[in-house]
Amino acid sequence: MPELPEVEVTRRGVAPHLTGKTVSAVILRRAGLRWPFPVDLPQLLVGQQILTTGRRGKYLLLHFQHGTVLIHLGMSGHLRVLDRQVLPGKHDHIDIVIGDFALRMTDPRRFGAVLWHDHADGDLEEHILIRQLGVEPLEAGFTPELLYKQTRKRSTSIKQALLAGDIVVGVGNIYASESLFKAGINPKIQAGRISLARYTSLVAAIRETLAAAIEQGGSTLKDFIGVDGQSGYFQQSYFVYDRAGEACRVCGETVRQIRQGQRSSFYCAKCQK
Ligand SMILES: [Zn+2]
Repeated sequence: MPELPEVEVTRRGVAPHLTGKTVSAVILRRAGLRWPFPVDLPQLLVGQQILTTGRRGKYLLLHFQHGTVLIHLGMSGHLRVLDRQVLPGKHDHIDIVIGDFALRMTDPRRFGAVLWHDHADGDLEEHILIRQLGVEPLEAGFTPELLYKQTRKRSTSIKQALLAGDIVVGVGNIYASESLFKAGINPKIQAGRISLARYTSLVAAIRETLAAAIEQGGSTLKDFIGVDGQSGYFQQSYFVYDRAGEACRVCGETVRQIRQGQRSSFYCAKCQK
Protein backbone atom coordinates (compact mmCIF):
# COMPACT_ATOMS: atom_id res chain seq x y z
CA MET A 1 0.00 0.00 0.00
CA PRO A 2 1.41 3.45 -0.81
CA GLU A 3 2.32 5.27 2.38
CA LEU A 4 3.09 8.96 2.85
CA PRO A 5 6.68 8.69 1.51
CA GLU A 6 5.48 7.06 -1.73
CA VAL A 7 2.86 9.75 -2.20
CA GLU A 8 5.39 12.50 -1.54
CA VAL A 9 7.94 10.89 -3.89
CA THR A 10 5.22 10.61 -6.53
CA ARG A 11 4.32 14.26 -6.05
CA ARG A 12 7.94 15.34 -6.42
CA GLY A 13 8.28 13.14 -9.49
CA VAL A 14 5.25 14.41 -11.36
CA ALA A 15 5.35 18.06 -10.20
CA PRO A 16 7.89 19.35 -12.76
CA HIS A 17 5.72 17.96 -15.57
CA LEU A 18 2.54 19.57 -14.25
CA THR A 19 3.30 22.88 -12.55
CA GLY A 20 2.31 25.84 -14.70
CA LYS A 21 0.93 23.60 -17.46
CA THR A 22 -2.54 23.79 -18.99
CA VAL A 23 -4.81 20.74 -19.14
CA SER A 24 -5.79 19.89 -22.73
CA ALA A 25 -8.02 16.86 -22.08
CA VAL A 26 -9.31 14.60 -19.32
CA ILE A 27 -10.03 10.99 -20.24
CA LEU A 28 -12.18 8.97 -17.84
CA ARG A 29 -12.21 5.27 -18.76
CA ARG A 30 -14.67 4.16 -16.10
CA ALA A 31 -17.26 5.80 -13.87
CA GLY A 32 -15.03 5.88 -10.82
CA LEU A 33 -12.87 3.98 -8.37
CA ARG A 34 -13.67 3.91 -4.67
CA TRP A 35 -16.05 6.79 -5.35
CA PRO A 36 -17.46 8.04 -8.69
CA PHE A 37 -15.24 10.42 -10.65
CA PRO A 38 -16.74 13.92 -10.90
CA VAL A 39 -18.59 13.62 -14.23
CA ASP A 40 -17.84 17.23 -15.10
CA LEU A 41 -14.09 16.89 -14.47
CA PRO A 42 -13.22 17.45 -18.17
CA GLN A 43 -15.27 20.66 -18.30
CA LEU A 44 -13.75 21.81 -15.01
CA LEU A 45 -10.13 21.22 -15.99
CA VAL A 46 -9.69 21.60 -19.75
CA GLY A 47 -8.10 24.94 -20.57
CA GLN A 48 -7.15 25.50 -16.92
CA GLN A 49 -3.63 25.85 -15.59
CA ILE A 50 -2.19 23.66 -12.80
CA LEU A 51 -0.78 26.33 -10.48
CA THR A 52 1.04 24.05 -8.02
CA THR A 53 0.98 20.54 -6.64
CA GLY A 54 0.66 19.68 -2.96
CA ARG A 55 0.01 16.88 -0.53
CA ARG A 56 -2.14 16.54 2.57
CA GLY A 57 -1.75 13.18 4.30
CA LYS A 58 -1.93 10.66 1.50
CA TYR A 59 -3.90 12.96 -0.79
CA LEU A 60 -1.92 14.32 -3.71
CA LEU A 61 -3.29 17.73 -4.67
CA LEU A 62 -3.38 19.59 -7.98
CA HIS A 63 -4.24 23.21 -7.30
CA PHE A 64 -6.12 25.24 -9.91
CA GLN A 65 -7.34 28.80 -9.65
CA HIS A 66 -10.93 27.65 -9.08
CA GLY A 67 -10.35 24.51 -7.01
CA THR A 68 -8.27 21.43 -6.30
CA VAL A 69 -8.09 17.89 -7.66
CA LEU A 70 -7.54 15.36 -4.83
CA ILE A 71 -5.94 12.07 -5.81
CA HIS A 72 -5.70 9.12 -3.41
CA LEU A 73 -3.76 6.03 -4.49
CA GLY A 74 -5.80 3.65 -2.32
CA MET A 75 -4.30 0.18 -1.90
CA SER A 76 -2.61 -0.29 -5.23
CA GLY A 77 -2.70 2.92 -7.23
CA HIS A 78 0.14 4.74 -8.89
CA LEU A 79 0.65 7.72 -11.13
CA ARG A 80 2.92 8.12 -14.10
CA VAL A 81 3.66 10.90 -16.54
CA LEU A 82 3.99 9.39 -19.99
CA ASP A 83 3.56 10.03 -23.71
CA ARG A 84 -0.18 10.38 -24.22
CA GLN A 85 0.00 8.03 -27.22
CA VAL A 86 1.02 5.06 -25.04
CA LEU A 87 -1.97 2.73 -25.16
CA PRO A 88 -3.74 2.38 -21.82
CA GLY A 89 -3.70 -0.96 -20.02
CA LYS A 90 -6.62 -2.66 -18.34
CA HIS A 91 -6.06 -0.87 -15.02
CA ASP A 92 -5.36 2.62 -16.42
CA HIS A 93 -8.51 4.48 -15.41
CA ILE A 94 -7.90 8.19 -15.91
CA ASP A 95 -5.61 10.47 -17.94
CA ILE A 96 -5.13 14.16 -17.30
CA VAL A 97 -3.60 15.24 -20.59
CA ILE A 98 -1.13 18.11 -20.86
CA GLY A 99 -0.06 18.61 -24.47
CA ASP A 100 1.88 15.52 -25.58
CA PHE A 101 1.94 14.01 -22.10
CA ALA A 102 -0.58 12.45 -19.79
CA LEU A 103 -0.72 12.03 -16.04
CA ARG A 104 -2.10 8.49 -15.95
CA MET A 105 -3.53 6.76 -12.90
CA THR A 106 -3.28 2.98 -12.70
CA ASP A 107 -5.16 1.17 -9.95
CA PRO A 108 -5.74 -2.61 -10.20
CA ARG A 109 -7.70 -2.91 -6.95
CA ARG A 110 -9.65 0.32 -7.52
CA PHE A 111 -9.62 1.63 -3.93
CA GLY A 112 -8.12 4.91 -5.12
CA ALA A 113 -9.99 8.16 -5.67
CA VAL A 114 -9.97 11.24 -7.86
CA LEU A 115 -12.13 14.05 -6.49
CA TRP A 116 -12.74 17.74 -7.11
CA HIS A 117 -12.99 20.41 -4.44
CA ASP A 118 -14.35 23.69 -5.75
CA HIS A 119 -13.21 26.90 -4.08
CA ALA A 120 -16.86 27.94 -4.06
CA ASP A 121 -17.40 25.18 -1.46
CA GLY A 122 -14.95 26.75 0.98
CA ASP A 123 -11.44 26.10 2.22
CA LEU A 124 -9.81 22.80 1.29
CA GLU A 125 -8.89 22.22 4.95
CA GLU A 126 -12.64 22.05 5.65
CA HIS A 127 -13.18 19.29 3.05
CA ILE A 128 -14.84 16.26 4.65
CA LEU A 129 -11.82 14.03 3.93
CA ILE A 130 -9.20 16.60 4.95
CA ARG A 131 -10.63 18.18 8.09
CA GLN A 132 -10.34 14.95 10.11
CA LEU A 133 -6.61 14.65 9.38
CA GLY A 134 -3.97 15.30 12.00
CA VAL A 135 -0.92 17.50 11.47
CA GLU A 136 1.72 16.80 8.82
CA PRO A 137 4.65 14.89 10.39
CA LEU A 138 7.31 16.78 8.43
CA GLU A 139 5.94 20.23 9.15
CA ALA A 140 6.61 22.53 12.09
CA GLY A 141 3.24 21.87 13.73
CA PHE A 142 4.24 18.32 14.65
CA THR A 143 5.89 18.81 18.04
CA PRO A 144 6.53 16.65 21.13
CA GLU A 145 4.22 18.99 23.07
CA LEU A 146 1.37 18.36 20.63
CA LEU A 147 1.80 14.60 20.83
CA TYR A 148 2.01 14.76 24.61
CA LYS A 149 -1.07 16.96 24.98
CA GLN A 150 -3.22 15.03 22.52
CA THR A 151 -2.51 11.68 24.13
CA ARG A 152 -3.13 12.52 27.81
CA LYS A 153 -6.60 11.02 27.85
CA ARG A 154 -5.93 8.12 25.50
CA SER A 155 -6.05 4.63 26.87
CA THR A 156 -4.94 3.11 23.53
CA SER A 157 -1.39 2.01 22.89
CA ILE A 158 1.07 4.45 21.38
CA LYS A 159 1.17 2.34 18.21
CA GLN A 160 -2.59 2.65 17.75
CA ALA A 161 -2.57 6.37 18.62
CA LEU A 162 -0.06 6.97 15.83
CA LEU A 163 -1.98 4.87 13.31
CA ALA A 164 -5.30 6.56 14.09
CA GLY A 165 -4.20 9.56 11.99
CA ASP A 166 -6.16 12.17 13.91
CA ILE A 167 -3.11 13.48 15.81
CA VAL A 168 -0.54 13.08 13.06
CA VAL A 169 -1.04 11.78 9.50
CA GLY A 170 1.10 9.50 7.43
CA VAL A 171 2.65 7.39 10.18
CA GLY A 172 1.41 4.06 8.83
CA ASN A 173 2.19 0.60 10.10
CA ILE A 174 5.73 0.39 8.73
CA TYR A 175 6.80 3.85 9.88
CA ALA A 176 5.15 3.54 13.29
CA SER A 177 6.97 0.26 13.96
CA GLU A 178 10.30 1.63 12.78
CA SER A 179 10.00 4.97 14.61
CA LEU A 180 9.01 3.33 17.90
CA PHE A 181 12.06 1.09 17.59
CA LYS A 182 14.37 4.06 17.01
CA ALA A 183 12.86 5.91 19.96
CA GLY A 184 13.16 2.80 22.17
CA ILE A 185 9.42 2.79 22.96
CA ASN A 186 7.47 -0.47 23.26
CA PRO A 187 4.43 -0.30 20.92
CA LYS A 188 2.16 -1.67 23.68
CA ILE A 189 2.75 1.25 26.07
CA GLN A 190 -0.36 3.32 26.75
CA ALA A 191 -0.08 6.60 24.82
CA GLY A 192 -1.33 8.64 27.76
CA ARG A 193 1.47 7.45 30.03
CA ILE A 194 4.45 8.38 27.87
CA SER A 195 6.53 11.33 29.06
CA LEU A 196 7.28 14.49 27.11
CA ALA A 197 10.95 13.50 27.01
CA ARG A 198 10.12 10.19 25.33
CA TYR A 199 7.78 11.96 22.89
CA THR A 200 10.67 14.26 22.01
CA SER A 201 12.65 11.19 20.93
CA LEU A 202 9.64 9.79 19.10
CA VAL A 203 8.95 12.96 17.10
CA ALA A 204 12.60 13.05 16.03
CA ALA A 205 12.47 9.35 15.09
CA ILE A 206 9.28 9.78 13.04
CA ARG A 207 10.67 12.77 11.16
CA GLU A 208 13.96 10.98 10.50
CA THR A 209 12.28 7.73 9.37
CA LEU A 210 9.90 9.45 6.95
CA ALA A 211 12.56 11.79 5.59
CA ALA A 212 14.92 8.86 4.98
CA ALA A 213 12.18 6.93 3.17
CA ILE A 214 11.40 9.92 0.96
CA GLU A 215 15.09 10.39 0.19
CA GLN A 216 15.51 6.71 -0.61
CA GLY A 217 12.37 6.80 -2.75
CA GLY A 218 13.76 9.77 -4.61
CA SER A 219 16.73 7.68 -5.69
CA THR A 220 14.40 5.07 -7.20
CA LEU A 221 12.10 7.71 -8.63
CA LYS A 222 12.86 6.85 -12.24
CA ASP A 223 11.60 3.31 -11.78
CA PHE A 224 8.72 4.45 -9.65
CA ILE A 225 7.07 6.71 -12.18
CA GLY A 226 8.91 5.70 -15.34
CA VAL A 227 7.04 4.78 -18.49
CA ASP A 228 7.43 1.06 -17.84
CA GLY A 229 6.16 1.77 -14.33
CA GLN A 230 6.15 -1.86 -13.25
CA SER A 231 8.45 -1.70 -10.28
CA GLY A 232 5.74 -0.79 -7.79
CA TYR A 233 6.58 0.66 -4.42
CA PHE A 234 10.11 0.98 -3.21
CA GLN A 235 11.51 -1.56 -0.80
CA GLN A 236 13.55 -0.53 2.17
CA SER A 237 15.55 -2.30 4.80
CA TYR A 238 13.86 -2.23 8.18
CA PHE A 239 14.99 -2.58 11.80
CA VAL A 240 11.91 -4.50 12.96
CA TYR A 241 9.08 -4.22 10.46
CA ASP A 242 8.30 -7.61 8.85
CA ARG A 243 11.29 -9.21 10.62
CA ALA A 244 9.50 -11.46 13.16
CA GLY A 245 11.77 -14.24 14.40
CA GLU A 246 14.91 -12.57 13.04
CA ALA A 247 17.68 -11.07 15.15
CA CYS A 248 17.41 -7.41 16.23
CA ARG A 249 19.99 -5.46 14.25
CA VAL A 250 21.07 -3.62 17.41
CA CYS A 251 21.08 -6.20 20.24
CA GLY A 252 20.55 -9.60 18.58
CA GLU A 253 17.37 -10.40 20.50
CA THR A 254 14.60 -12.05 18.45
CA VAL A 255 12.18 -9.56 16.89
CA ARG A 256 8.60 -10.16 18.08
CA GLN A 257 5.31 -9.83 16.26
CA ILE A 258 2.00 -9.05 17.97
CA ARG A 259 -1.47 -7.96 16.83
CA GLN A 260 -2.68 -4.49 17.80
CA GLY A 261 -6.07 -3.52 16.48
CA GLN A 262 -6.17 -5.36 13.18
CA ARG A 263 -2.50 -4.72 12.43
CA SER A 264 0.78 -6.47 13.08
CA SER A 265 3.37 -4.73 15.23
CA PHE A 266 7.02 -5.71 15.25
CA TYR A 267 9.36 -4.82 18.08
CA CYS A 268 12.40 -5.80 20.12
CA ALA A 269 11.52 -6.34 23.77
CA LYS A 270 15.10 -5.58 24.83
CA CYS A 271 15.53 -2.31 22.93
CA GLN A 272 11.97 -1.05 23.43
CA LYS A 273 10.65 -0.47 26.93
ZN1 LIG B 1 17.10 -5.06 20.16
